[in-house]
Amino acid sequence: MKIFCIANQKGGVGKTTTTVNLAAGLAKIGQRVLLVDLDPQGNATMGSGVDKRTLARSVYDVLIESATIAEAAVLPDKLKEAGCPYAVLGANRELAGAEVELVGEERRERRLKEALARVAADYDFVLIDCPPSLSMLTLNGLCAAQGVIVPMQCEYFALEGLADLTNTIKQVHANLNRDLKLIGLLRVMFDPRITLQLQVSEQLKAHYGDKVFDTVIPRNVRLAEAPSYGLPGVVFDPSARGSQAFIAFAHEMVQRGLR
Ligand code: ADP
Ligand code: MG
Repeated sequence: MKIFCIANQKGGVGKTTTTVNLAAGLAKIGQRVLLVDLDPQGNATMGSGVDKRTLARSVYDVLIESATIAEAAVLPDKLKEAGCPYAVLGANRELAGAEVELVGEERRERRLKEALARVAADYDFVLIDCPPSLSMLTLNGLCAAQGVIVPMQCEYFALEGLADLTNTIKQVHANLNRDLKLIGLLRVMFDPRITLQLQVSEQLKAHYGDKVFDTVIPRNVRLAEAPSYGLPGVVFDPSARGSQAFIAFAHEMVQRGLR
């Protein structure tokens, strides 16, 4: 079982869109996938067709150890019907309280890792959608994962933000999780007509080499529309350019021997 965090300390960069569409893409090509929503906003939950307001059990219950993942994860009907079935360990506002409730608790940043160990035989991939901050929630994700996937827009300050994130990964690697590494940078919302984006993309490749994924996710309105239908773009409109790119990305993840 491979466990990846989708992380970037900036908001609105495409973390959730990447998580739900990679999950759907991997499911479509036959992988057994669990999506873990670690953001109290619950966007990945809603975007997978699970109503965060009526969740019986969530990742919060797993973190405070009042439920196991087997008890709390759900398999949304809409995803099953579409042939992209992946399991969802959902989140809602309740999760924001976990931070405070776990203060002073033993091994509080290892709760998710320990819970995932018990379902190791059930999934090929676990994808963790992180909130846009380095909170105890994100630490739980980084402690549990073998790798970090960083979605990023090719904008002027992108490289600067990346330095912060790679430092965080180094620190977690040194102190909490020896397995953790940067898997790759995913260029998202890409528009090749914008010269600056092409330039930043070249800089990225110069600095990070093969840590930059080959697949590029274009800016595509169908990906932005899909969440309002409670579906990943890959399910909502599989033929859209953005959806095709995420399916290609799923193949790239499998081909890179990341299984
Ligand atoms: P984050 O989780 O990092 O905050 P989101 O995945 O929620 O970011 O994306 C932020 C906004 O950008 C959302 O409205 C989303 O629908 C939109 N978006 C993300 N990726 C794309 C894309 N490739 N093309 C068009 N819109 C996108
Ligand atoms: Mg998000």
